[in-house]
Amino acid sequence: MPDYSCSITSPRHKRRLRNLTDEQILIWLLRQSRRNENGCLICDKSILRDGYAHIGVRGKLIPAHRFVYTTIYGKLDSSVDTRHTCDVRNCIAPGHLTHGSRKQNMQDAIDRKRIATGQQSPNAKLNISQVRQIRNQIKQGRRLKLIANDFNVSPSLISAIKLNYRWKHDR
Ligand SMILES: [Zn+2]
Repeated sequence: MPDYSCSITSPRHKRRLRNLTDEQILIWLLRQSRRNENGCLICDKSILRDGYAHIGVRGKLIPAHRFVYTTIYGKLDSSVDTRHTCDVRNCIAPGHLTHGSRKQNMQDAIDRKRIATGQQSPNAKLNISQVRQIRNQIKQGRRLKLIANDFNVSPSLISAIKLNYRWKHDR
């Protein structure tokens, strides 16, 4: 049996997580991780045999990196993979995640330059350039609520981007 006993899926945290929005869970998850020398955000929680960290959200155990990706960039079709540009399976750094079909994944292994970006997601909430603009506005000290209004997303999503921005290595 995989070890689910560590913090994310323990009964105490399940209770805590139940009433949180996806964005609030995202912030919580990013805070739990640690930055390594390559800028990866390493999530040590609930690593299954496949090497990916997992998180229990509303009764479903899902890969943590996919949860991070879809919460920031929008839902993906189940046929679309969430992938790491850093090849670290338990990394959840938003800037290290991208998506693509399984066929693309194979192409990726052949040609690293062909990595797709979040903006190609059909249901993307934000594209990569918008995330960059948001980071710049946060840096300039603009109020998160105003930024959220401009980009038509929730203030907690902006907080998540802010939280990630503090980690210098992220693109
Ligand atoms: Zn990484």
